[in-house]
Amino acid sequence: MAEPRGVALLLVSHSRPLAEATRSLIWQMTTDAVPVVVAAGAGDEGEILGTDTTRIASALQGLVVTHDVVVLMDLGSALLSTEMALGLLSNDDGRRIRLCSAPFVEGAVAAALAAQAGTQIDAVLREAESALRGKQDQLGGSELTSGGDEQHADPDMMRQCYRLHDPMGLHLRPAAEIVRVAGGADGKVWVGRAGVGAALASANSLSALLALELRQGEELCVYSRQSLAAELTQALAAILGSPPGEDRGEQEATLPRGVVPGFACGVLALAQQDLWDLLPAQEAADEHGLARIHAAMEAVAEVAPGHGILAAQRALLEDPRLLALIERELATGQGPAHAWVAAIEALAREMASLQNPVLRARAADWRDLGARVLRRLLGVEEHNTTLQEPRILLVDELLPSVAAALDAERVLGVVDRHGAQNSHAAILLRARGIPYIIQATDPALQAGVFVALDGGSGEMVISPDAQALAQFQSRYRQVREDAVTLGFTGKMEWSEGSSVELWANVASAAEAAAARKVGAFGIGLLRTEFLYLDQWQLPSEEDQAQRLREILLPMADRTAVVRLLDAGADKPMAFLVLPSEENPALGLRGIRALLARKEFLHSHLRAILRAGEGLSIQLLLPMVTNPEEVQALRQHLAVVRTELLSAGVAHGWPVPVGVMAEVPAMLLAAENFRSLVDFVSVGTNDLTQYVLAADRGDDRLQSLGDARHPAVLTALRALLRAVDRPVSVCGEAAGDPLLVSTLVAAGIRRLSMSPDRFAGVIHALQRAANP
Ligand code: PEP
Ligand code: MG
Repeated sequence: MAEPRGVALLLVSHSRPLAEATRSLIWQMTTDAVPVVVAAGAGDEGEILGTDTTRIASALQGLVVTHDVVVLMDLGSALLSTEMALGLLSNDDGRRIRLCSAPFVEGAVAAALAAQAGTQIDAVLREAESALRGKQDQLGGSELTSGGDEQHADPDMMRQCYRLHDPMGLHLRPAAEIVRVAGGADGKVWVGRAGVGAALASANSLSALLALELRQGEELCVYSRQSLAAELTQALAAILGSPPGEDRGEQEATLPRGVVPGFACGVLALAQQDLWDLLPAQEAADEHGLARIHAAMEAVAEVAPGHGILAAQRALLEDPRLLALIERELATGQGPAHAWVAAIEALAREMASLQNPVLRARAADWRDLGARVLRRLLGVEEHNTTLQEPRILLVDELLPSVAAALDAERVLGVVDRHGAQNSHAAILLRARGIPYIIQATDPALQAGVFVALDGGSGEMVISPDAQALAQFQSRYRQVREDAVTLGFTGKMEWSEGSSVELWANVASAAEAAAARKVGAFGIGLLRTEFLYLDQWQLPSEEDQAQRLREILLPMADRTAVVRLLDAGADKPMAFLVLPSEENPALGLRGIRALLARKEFLHSHLRAILRAGEGLSIQLLLPMVTNPEEVQALRQHLAVVRTELLSAGVAHGWPVPVGVMAEVPAMLLAAENFRSLVDFVSVGTNDLTQYVLAADRGDDRLQSLGDARHPAVLTALRALLRAVDRPVSVCGEAAGDPLLVSTLVAAGIRRLSMSPDRFAGVIHALQRAANP
């Protein structure tokens, strides 16, 4: 049998510029491995509009020596000239040539991509001939279907998923790259959304990939019957993880970075047990299917009333669209588990495709709910699942709400394929002492793999031997002993009379207890919003007062700075029902949101004052821009105080009021706040993101997240010059051993940080004082 040969293209057009422009388009999307020859125009140089049989025949004769040839033609007489040219060739040569009925440009591009992927001539022809499918599907006029050979995801397939970050979704260029790297498997690799039953496109079909219409934020999964080769996964990660418009060839490789110190070793597991993993491969239709689903839903809805996430999920369970979808799936003869998963996946995918990133993130709620009900339906007890084993979580991007819900007893560490060091998710893990590594893109990091990691340095050893494991462990013990032997009393003092106070950032009673243990001067930042991440129901005043009191008590003999709820941006509070925004970080955040939701603001203030009864508390206002916001807040505070007094409710008073310095305008016009505030606390996390115009959560912009930037320090110095009240720093910079000396040198005498950062900061300041 003859060796399979590569496929070349011949472009036959009346217009030479048209054919050459089409070839340029192809060259932009393919390597030059596919020969593309132009036989266009009439006249000596092809300068006259028309076609020339001799020119076409000689091009074909040259190409068939080494390749099979697909010919693309533009208008009517181009076909006639090409058929005449074929008549001039031998029968043998003629058998290596296919005339293609596809539209000229789309067909040529699709054929080139298929040829580049190594497909044989008839498959290239087919691919070219269905090149209009994406466009037709999108315009809604297509009668063209794939005629029964549609592929859907089934539970026997392996898959590898990527989050699409490109704002244009899966557009032509990345799709073409997928065809290039994965299309060679000739129909054995597919691409689609996550979920059983998801429609799949063959990775060798550009048009089918585009017809999936995958959008930014959606998960794109690559499916196959066998594990994907490591090189392929890596190549796909490079394509799909790349920011739009970047030259991937020159892109800097990211290295994993440790952002929460600590040692961990264990098996990697996905953050949530996937619906996919739970679903049985075979399931018979069941006439009681609907009743069984309802029973499982009711069982889930009854669990733990009052708990935020679960309460939200109860509301989802009552969604009439969910119920209609389940009935529709059951009517097709599916078993109840499959019907349930298909319905919940459809809603999750709908959420995941929304423009608003906050709503998009809610897709995880649907899937989480899906897994909970599915377990009931299948009779799989929660405690029997691998989720309950201590493990290291592997995530694609840790959301603050997921970080807040992690069980520190069972989560040994977190490995994040993306992530940013000043993200709220990182802050939450730091507060809970869970080692955390970000930007870990090694494709070998997969669920089920054993790793040892050092969350301080970012080092990871995959499948470590006994020696590597022992090395990691001894390093960890050393750090712990350092921290324990400090015996610190909250203030560092030097012989010439200068001093620096170290305060603690907390959001739970456990962290407040840790603050006491490390000898914190006080609570410098109590982030109230962390109590209610992912809560859909308005917390009652009573609930707020109780939870805050629990946090304040371990440090009852010290001052505590309680920050009012800093909702918005990446800390959405569903219960505040903020409008969806194009630019949430610049939107209704912090004090802006509170002043827009006065009823909640009053209950919040009442709860804080009640929780502070007999204690020394201070109020901190987030995201303040102008003095009018402070004035407005003080008026609300006065009303609340009067109400509490007249109702005879015990509460803490007087309560100093301070502002976060995190909006550049506040620092640059700080003199306007002079008589209005009792203290100021600098939020370097937001300040840096706003001064440098770089999203603090965007893993591609981490080099723009350095609080030592001269512009940030200039703003800080302007603030220190303008206000005559205590100024502290409570952003992550205050706990970063590499940054604290700069802050102290700038004049900061009060640093507030997560309790686990005390040891490193004390060492750094001691070293700076005695170099
Ligand atoms: C900050 O912005 O630095 C800060 C302390 O507040 P948060 O990180 O909660 O936005
Ligand atoms: Mg902030």
